[in-house]
Amino acid sequence: MLQRRKFIKQSLLGSALLLPGMAALESQASPSKKSSGTKPLILSTWSHGLPANADAWAKLKQTGSILDAVEAGVRNTELDLENLSVGLQGLPDREGITTLDASIMQGDGSCGTVAFVRQVKHPISLARAVMEKTPHVMLVGEGARQFAIAQGFPMEEEKLSPNAQKEYDKWKVTSQYKPIINIENHDTIGMIGLDAAGKLAGSCTTSGLAYKMHGRVGDSPIIGAGLFVDDEVGAATATGLGESIIRICGSFLIVELMRQGRSPQEACEEAVRRLVAKNKNIKDIQAGFLAVNKEGEVGAFAVHPGFNYALATDSGNVLVDAGSQFKS
Ligand code: ASP
Repeated sequence: MLQRRKFIKQSLLGSALLLPGMAALESQASPSKKSSGTKPLILSTWSHGLPANADAWAKLKQTGSILDAVEAGVRNTELDLENLSVGLQGLPDREGITTLDASIMQGDGSCGTVAFVRQVKHPISLARAVMEKTPHVMLVGEGARQFAIAQGFPMEEEKLSPNAQKEYDKWKVTSQYKPIINIENHDTIGMIGLDAAGKLAGSCTTSGLAYKMHGRVGDSPIIGAGLFVDDEVGAATATGLGESIIRICGSFLIVELMRQGRSPQEACEEAVRRLVAKNKNIKDIQAGFLAVNKEGEVGAFAVHPGFNYALATDSGNVLVDAGSQFKS
């Protein structure tokens, strides 16, 4: 996974990926801090955000819906066989079972989430169905699976992908739970988007931490932790150790800090400071945040170096390295 990430980084940093209808970006410097905003815009975690952004952008052009865009974007990652932290090809829990978490939210407050769900290839679309077709916000486990069946989602065979099986077999030799920050565990995709009219939406999907306890749920399907969106202010999403993010209600915190006047960058940095203060063993914990305000200014920050994100605008789709609290 690390090799893949390095490869994508090397091949795409320094050469903006052009999407249909986009001109080349002149500069790839971080657009955070005091940059003036731009709309429309799609922002997503890690380098797999590049192809995800491309799909989101195409969907936005096709349907004009920012909600459709953020759903379509992360569906790309849910099918990425190289990604061991998203979708059914993700690394399993300690029992060898892959369980998925996902959330979707619009700026008017409507949202849907699923957690601890099995056999569903596109949990983000199931989360959207929860939002649009039930009176609830969250369905978990067997109930979520039953709802998926009722909605006509195909059930996939419960079998680890060859890559996941190989990694799981290696892990079983020691059965030690010692995630290596940035490498083994943090490939969740969180995506936030702003359309030309100022409407916001976001999505987040993951198989969670590798070798987690059976039944463990992370931040990604928790509204306010892994994702929060408010058309009045902006949106935020998170990746990294879910427990540390839930503890500080990370995404909600960032949106509320922006509401009080902080820039997206300042808000992400304050959330990281809060997370560092509230979590022990911080040297073993990676977490990163992305934010956008309704003007289209963006921010990103992480606990440790290594966090990057993909940013798509009318000018291109580029990978940007985020700053971090601790330096290597
Ligand atoms: N946030 C995810 C979780 O804790 C993990 C990740 O970002 O990869 O489930």
